[in-house]
Amino acid sequence: SISFSWEDPLNLESLLTEEEKLIRDSARHFAQQKLKPKILQDFRTESGERDIIKLLGEQGYFHDEPIGNVAYGLINKELDAVDSGYRTSLSVQNGLVLFPLRSYAKNSIKEKYVPKLESGDYVGCFCLTEANHGSNPEAMETRAQKKGSKYVLNGSKIWISNSPIADVFVVWAKDQTGDVIGFALEKDTPGLSVTKIQGKLSLRASSTGIVSFHDVELDEENMLQVRGMKGPLSCLGEARFGIAWSSFGAAEACYKIARNYTLERKQFGRPLAQTQLIQKKLADMATEISLGLLAAYHVSKLKDEGKITPQMVSILKRNACQKSLQIAREARDMLGGNGIVDEYDVLRHAMNLEAVNTYEGTADIHSLIIGKGITGLQAFS
Ligand code: FAD
Repeated sequence: SISFSWEDPLNLESLLTEEEKLIRDSARHFAQQKLKPKILQDFRTESGERDIIKLLGEQGYFHDEPIGNVAYGLINKELDAVDSGYRTSLSVQNGLVLFPLRSYAKNSIKEKYVPKLESGDYVGCFCLTEANHGSNPEAMETRAQKKGSKYVLNGSKIWISNSPIADVFVVWAKDQTGDVIGFALEKDTPGLSVTKIQGKLSLRASSTGIVSFHDVELDEENMLQVRGMKGPLSCLGEARFGIAWSSFGAAEACYKIARNYTLERKQFGRPLAQTQLIQKKLADMATEISLGLLAAYHVSKLKDEGKITPQMVSILKRNACQKSLQIAREARDMLGGNGIVDEYDVLRHAMNLEAVNTYEGTADIHSLIIGKGITGLQAFS
């Protein structure tokens, strides 16, 4: 007989292949056994990133294996169920560092960095955002001036995930003609410096920094073989896609915590879960998570076939972040006073999702990308 599963209301499981289920189960086991025990301490102390990247590398999550986009999405989701900060490390290393190196770097640079990034011995970061140019990175001020056979890099980047612990920096700058170009360089390159941003209330288990370049001399060899905003945007497309799945991992964790808590907790002589208001909230959560995941599944299949557009990714990223954020905030409320304590996880997820909603293109910017797709009119400026 067919029965309803509160954990998988629309039966996503029925669409998964045996291999996808195995990858998902192994990711869940890894995340719950190896990462979950660390998160409270890492979040409290704003630390822990390097050992996490090493663990992710040992799991094989940085290797270029053709596992398909559904399986990759499921891994993202399992990591986010523990913490979006840990998942950020995965997204940055894969989508924003290994992807441009594999796609655009010269062979000598690939050979030097890719194996170490894949094993998790090296940490990478992606430097695009500047203090004066966030949503509009194309207006960047960082310059790479050609001098003889060298390029000289000057400028500063902000909000760079993993930069305080990074070994390899992917950096986007403009050349003398105003074209966006990219470079890959190492942490001990003279003129490069990093300051850690302290006191974040979101993604505390992922370190973020300000990266400055003062007359940094680079060889042609360090240059990436791509010109224009296509370079950084192609990387962001990869990382944004992962968020379509991952945010629902955090949301699902909150949904499960809220369900279990309200079943246990009695007020007015009955479980909270037996009240209409709580049931409506749980119904909303189950609906948004299961609809969102089916959409992520569908677009993953299209991505496997090379049939996705940036607008599709914007629809998913924006929806996943906004719905997950709403679910995490609601779960926080359903736990009453306990909901504000870090050991109950829900407020940590909500705080994390605030940043996930902002990075990789804010929800508003994705509205404008979708809006332009609908109307043909550009409303950014
Ligand atoms: P702003 O661009 O100033 O936006 C502020 C508000 O204005 C937002 O609500 C936005 O939606 C809205 N807005 C902007 N333009 C418009 C418009 N035309 N119409 C209507 N509303 C508008 N960057 C990297 O390069 N690498 C990283 O690794 C990285 N990691 C990050 C990690 C964290 C924790 C955070 C918080 C950010 C990270 N970022 C990174 C930067 C991130 O991508 C930017 O913060 C983001 O693009 C928004 O830019 P901003 O913060 O300057 O906000």
